[in-house]
Amino acid sequence: SKPIVAIVGRPNVGKSTLFNQIGKKRVSIVEDFPGVTRDRIYMDAEWLDKKFTMIDTGGIELESQDTILSSIRVQAQLAIDEADVIVFLTDGRAGVTNADAEIARILRNARKPVILAVNKIDTQKQQMDVYEFYNLGLGDPIPIAAANSLNMGDLLDKVVESF
Ligand code: GDP
Ligand code: MG
Repeated sequence: SKPIVAIVGRPNVGKSTLFNQIGKKRVSIVEDFPGVTRDRIYMDAEWLDKKFTMIDTGGIELESQDTILSSIRVQAQLAIDEADVIVFLTDGRAGVTNADAEIARILRNARKPVILAVNKIDTQKQQMDVYEFYNLGLGDPIPIAAANSLNMGDLLDKVVESF
């Protein structure tokens, strides 16, 4: 009965990278989800002595030949149904895309806390790229660089504050 934190976002924004970084210190596989082969989906994690379970919704392989947009919708809905907190991950290099706007629309209607993170902000110079993400209507975007573990503390503070 630990809180569940779902990571949602379109392909290639860095969900698996973030997931693996957060789980790095204390990795234990919670369970294998039937039919899932590509990525680890569930992971136990901990921040400031608060334990939680993370789900990488992008690792869930859908049975049908869905378009990216329809699988994004399904994954966002899975997160809304299962999670206590949703981390919506976007890509600061790519900027706001139509798929991001669609995910945001779904998440704004969820009665769950949503934390918006903008990944791939590797340098100070890229901080300006974060502002357009305010347009998604999900509050303050948190800049991170998951690959280098930059600003992960700010993100995780927000996550555990919302339990
Ligand atoms: P997913 O499809 O959302 O799970 O994305 P992945 O975690 O597989 O990452 C997609 C690509 O983005 C990979 O090539 C990663 O190396 C790259 N990536 C992830 N995090 C960062 C980051 O902080 N900065 C940069 N520049 N690239 C990143
Ligand atoms: Mg992935």
